[in-house]
Amino acid sequence: MLTAKDALAFTAAVSPIAKSEFRSDIERQSGQKILQCYQCGKCTAGCPVSYSMDLGPRRVIRAIQLGLKDEALSSSTIWLCFFCYTCSARCPREIDIARVMESLRLMAVSEGVKPAEKDIELFHRLFLDNVRRWGRIHELGLAGSYNLFSRHFLANVGLLPGMVSRSKLAILPPRIRATAQVKAIFAKAGQRKSKQRVGKS
Ligand code: SF4
Ligand code: SF4
Repeated sequence: MLTAKDALAFTAAVSPIAKSEFRSDIERQSGQKILQCYQCGKCTAGCPVSYSMDLGPRRVIRAIQLGLKDEALSSSTIWLCFFCYTCSARCPREIDIARVMESLRLMAVSEGVKPAEKDIELFHRLFLDNVRRWGRIHELGLAGSYNLFSRHFLANVGLLPGMVSRSKLAILPPRIRATAQVKAIFAKAGQRKSKQRVGKS
């Protein structure tokens, strides 16, 4: 069996990797050892949305190994990832790739890198607002507000009758007991973010 030392030696032999501040930052934020990756591609092979990504998880990890910050942060992959953790579960080097994706996305937002996917930031904002308001996702409300604010007024409207009639979409928002606690979590996260901004300025 390949040891961590062997894997590193192999990676270095295939492509000598210089020290990279970007790689160190991502490793620190995600708690993952990026150089452990030996590029087997199991992450990309299992990713349910890799067909729509420009790089795919394996290539994003490779970009980090090589210190290619712009390529990684401007990739559509970091926005299309929905943290299903399939890649993390499959990785033979036990790299939690989903956490790496999250760290990349946070870094892209804090450094003002424009997302590669049009309207995806809007979708994320509306998604979180929906969770904050109802405690769980109200798909119909989310789809409606996304169509409205993105100005794709009629996008997917034809699917609506079939989905509602098959009970795949609820007309009314979900009712959960702990909405106040969910709102408190969002308020706490907001305070933390403000403190981080003050700390940086
Ligand atoms: S599954 Fe793990 S080792 Fe294989 S390419 Fe992906 S991150 Fe690298
Ligand atoms: S966590 Fe993200 S990158 Fe990994 S398999 Fe799921 S969607 Fe793909």
